[in-house]
Parts: sequence; structure tokens; C-alpha cells
Amino acid sequence: MRSRSSAGQTIRKGTFDMCIIGGGATGTGCALDAQLRGFSTVLLDAGDFVSHTSTASTKLVHGGVRYLQQAVADLDYGQYAMVRKALHERVHMLRCAPFLAHPLELLVPCFTTWDLLYYTIGMKAYDWIAGSASLFPSRMLSKAESLRRMPQLRSEGLVGTVSYADGQFDDARFGLSLAQTFTQQGGEIINYAKAVGFGKDSTGKLAVLEVDDQFTQERFQIRAKVFVNCTGPFADHIRLLANPAVPERLRLSKGVHLLLPLEAIQSESALLIPKTEDGRVIFAIPWLGRLLVGTTDDEAKLTDEMVVKPEEIRFLLKYVNQYLKVNLTPRDVQSAYAGVRPLVKSKDAVNTKKLIRDHEVEVDEVSVLGGKWTTYRAMAEDGINHAQRVLAGKQAACRTLDFLLTGAQGFSPDYWKQLAENYRLSPETAQHLAQKFGTDSPKVLELARQEPQLLQPLFEGGTPIRAEAVYVIREEMAQTIEDILLRRIGVQFHSWKEAAQAAPVVGQLLAREFAWSDAQTKEAVAAYLGSIQHLLQSAGIEN
Ligand SMILES: Cc1cc2nc3c(=O)[nH]c(=O)nc-3n(C[C@H](O)[C@H](O)[C@H](O)COP(=O)(O)OP(=O)(O)OC[C@H]3O[C@@H](n4cnc5c(N)ncnc54)[C@H](O)[C@@H]3O)c2cc1C
Repeated sequence: MRSRSSAGQTIRKGTFDMCIIGGGATGTGCALDAQLRGFSTVLLDAGDFVSHTSTASTKLVHGGVRYLQQAVADLDYGQYAMVRKALHERVHMLRCAPFLAHPLELLVPCFTTWDLLYYTIGMKAYDWIAGSASLFPSRMLSKAESLRRMPQLRSEGLVGTVSYADGQFDDARFGLSLAQTFTQQGGEIINYAKAVGFGKDSTGKLAVLEVDDQFTQERFQIRAKVFVNCTGPFADHIRLLANPAVPERLRLSKGVHLLLPLEAIQSESALLIPKTEDGRVIFAIPWLGRLLVGTTDDEAKLTDEMVVKPEEIRFLLKYVNQYLKVNLTPRDVQSAYAGVRPLVKSKDAVNTKKLIRDHEVEVDEVSVLGGKWTTYRAMAEDGINHAQRVLAGKQAACRTLDFLLTGAQGFSPDYWKQLAENYRLSPETAQHLAQKFGTDSPKVLELARQEPQLLQPLFEGGTPIRAEAVYVIREEMAQTIEDILLRRIGVQFHSWKEAAQAAPVVGQLLAREFAWSDAQTKEAVAAYLGSIQHLLQSAGIEN
């Protein structure tokens, strides 16, 4: 990726076939699809790439067992079709970035024989719908086998579990890898650039996007033949900018997740808690050294602050403590995050839990609404099919189905061993790099070859190294401490405390790359530490 200022200059000068607004799962997916079809494409985001819903997911690559349950209970063909599509797209995600996505075994605990039968049949139906896209067959496990696989599972009254397969992934890095791959194919990209208005040509067609640079406060224009609105929860806002007469289409729902010590589960398999009081499922999933627990589902507004609240922590911990042999308290929460689902309104659904997670493409400017991470590629294919019809010229075929993302070429599960050997790294650091950058890791490590001090950890006793921060500033357009510690390296997901420890070092590295003054650096570090403090306080957790 070129630097932000160089990208800005090129983008101002050009006229593009397609302009993609929003750099989450939908936008990065659309941008890569359009560029691969041969359309000159530009993508912009009001904040950092993948900074909203697309980093706040449960990080499952899944059809959705809960949606299948709803499809059967409500005889809802739409839900069924969405599950089937997602199960097929699941395979694509695992194949195109195997360093970021892999299969996962999930266990459904059952406390009656009836439940054991019910979930066994349900999961067989899930396998059957997946067909050739099945990852491994589901099966009924005895109580003893279940406890062998997950020793921390509460055993009182347990009859057995049902084991089934889905995938899990690193959502932030997946989006960044899509963005990076897009630029490698010749696409232009810029973050912290907010769409604020449209201009039309003499025929009344949208021709120009007015954009505010969030750092310099300058206004500039992007010229394109078609605009694709991929702004997730903000999509109604862009639709109304393009045409103030359209009705709003989105309903928003907030979901939170907690990151807890991995020892709470002591298993490589994940737990699906099949039913909460409010009719949800909760997942407890081993994820990059933590136990990821979520999620809630509550109606939300765009203006709501996306922080995790004490009552949401209590709600999730209650279920973890009920199903695992642990007594976790809010003090065990290492980190947490909240996001908002962009759900497309349906006439019948009374609450957000019932809203179908399928997507819709609306043709005006082109708006790609709703959907899930797992179906991002299919949404993009659909969106760009519509967008190219608006262009009315060449109609190119979608090429994303088998297209590997950067970092995937030549990757294998024990690739980290090569890194450890070639660069004399600890197994932990080698594994961390392989999980974040795949076979692009040597690009990070070559920086440390030139400057050996960049091999030092980002914080004392930590696994990530300083070269990663320099690499993502130079190659992934990272601009702030949060861009680096949260989305690009994942330290803030792992632990708020570790992120606060790493902040001064990251501030210094940003200062070095961007020639910041001491005052600017201090301000950036203080602002980041303030944001972590705010997250802790909102969650009711003492520092
Ligand atoms: C709690 C929760 C759990 C989930 N779990 C899963 C899961 O396990 N698996 C799964 O498949 N899916 C899951 N999802 C769904 C999935 O995360 C979303 O469907 C997906 O991330 C939506 O991506 P998006 O690109 O449409 O939106 P976003 O990621 O929100 O991206 C929209 C982007 O548009 C930008 N933007 C907004 N306004 C402007 C503007 N004016 N100018 C320029 N840019 C703008 C924003 O900055 C943002 O980056 C979950 C969602 C939630 C909330």
C-alpha cells in the first residue's frame, strides 16, 4: 500500500470506474472484486479500514446454527437459503486465507437425552445442507468423551455433547488482507476520508463524491462512474446523501464480546451455549490465546457509544460460569469490544434476533446492505454485478472465488517453524507473525534484519515485536496507536493492560516514521491511554 499522502494525491487526480465507500468486510470485498474484473477502483473509509462492525464480530466463519433453528421453527425459506449460502462461502474463506481462517470444533452440551437427539439431528441437517462444503461430520459424544475434550465443562447432569464444525478467523486482519490484496492489484485506497456529499453531472447522474480528510480537514473530490455504498450501519446516511427521498432500510443491533483467560476452557474446541433466557446462543471460543465469549443482541441507535457495559459483562459471565467449572468475575475480563449489526428491515420481525442476516443490493447509487462477514464475497459479487450493469460497458466475470489473499501463497500450518529457524525467533513470536501476516511475515522480519532493535518486543514479556509496528505504518497505512495495537497487531484484543504498556513504544515508532514532534507524540500516547481508561471505566472494571 502506498503512503496515505501519496494515495490522496493520486485519488484527487483520477477518474475511476468505481468508487467504494466504506472499508469494512463489504467494502474491501467489493473493491477487490471490482479491481479483479478490470475496473479502476478507489476505496475510502471515514475512519481506519475495518474499524467498525467488521472487527466486532464473533470471528466465526459459519452458516449459523441459530439461523437454521429459526428457519425450521418459522418455516422460513429465506433463513434456510442464507444458511446454505454461508456454508458454501465458509469454504472460500478458509481456502483464500488459511493463515487467518481455519476449521473449529464446537461442542453443544446437552443435559437431557431429548436435547442430545434434537441437536444431533439438527447438526446432521447442518452437515447435509453444507454437502460437499462440509468441514467434518458432526457426531454425538458421550459424557466421558465430552469431558476428555473439554475438562472444564460442568459435568453435573451432563448427558453428552454434539460436536460439529464451523470456521473461525481473525476479522481485522482478514479485512486488512483484502485491502492489501486490492492495492496489489492496482486499486487505490485511503483511510480517514469521509464521504459527505455527492455531485451530479448534467444528466442528473452521481459523478462526484465530496470527501473530508479527517486529519487535514481539507475537502476534496473523487470522480467516478459508479458509487458503491458499503458503509454497513451508516448505509442509510449515504443513501440519503445520494437521494433524500429514500426510506431508511436498516435496523441496528448491538453485540458485545469479552476476552477472558484461556485457562477457563482448557480446550481447543469451542462451546456453544444453545439457549439463553432471551433466546440467543452464546459462544465461548478459544481465540488467539484468549477465551472469546459473546454475544448479546440488543436494539441500538447509530449514536449509541460502542462500549461494553457492566450489565453486559454480568450477562455473559453468568452463562460462562453456569456451563464451565469456573467462577469468573468482571476482574477476569482482559479486554472487551462492542459493535453494531447492520440488519435490513423486514416487515414481520418484531425484534432484531429474528431479523435475517442475508444481504440486499439496492440500485440507485449501488448500496450493499446487511449480510454477514462469512458471506462478504457473495455480497461483493452481487454488488459488483449490479454496479457493472450501471456502467453498461464491459460485463466481466467475478474472479474472487479461488483468489488467494496476500500472505496465503505457500502457507502451511507449520510455516511458523521456518520463520523461527530462519530468523531465530521464539516459537511464540513466529506463530504470532504467521497468524497475522502469513507468508508476508519475512517482509516484516527483513526490517528487523536491517535494524536489529526492531526485534525487541512491543512491551515487556510480550510476543509481538517492534518491526510489526513499523511494517504496518509503512505498508498498511496505519496512522494511529489504535490502528496498530487493535486492528493490525491485535494487542488490544488480547489485553487492555498490555496495549497500555505498548502505547509509548508504538507512539515513538509513529513519531519516527511521521516525524512527529515530542508534543504530538505525547498527545497521541495520552489520547490512546485515555481511550483505554474510558473502556475500562465504562465496563466498570478497576484499573
Ligand atoms: C456482535 C456481532 C457479531 C458478529 N459475528 C459474526 C460472525 O461471527 N460471523 C459473521 O460472518 N458475521 C458476524 N457478524 C456480522 C459482520 O460482522 C457484519 O455483517 C460485517 O462486518 C459488516 O461489514 P460492513 O463492511 O458492511 O460494515 P462495517 O464493518 O461497519 O464497515 C462500514 C465502514 O463504512 C465506513 N463509513 C461509514 N460512513 C462513511 C462515510 N461517510 N464515508 C466513508 N466511509 C464511511 C465506516 O468507517 C466503516 O469502516 C457480527 C456482527 C456483530 C455486530
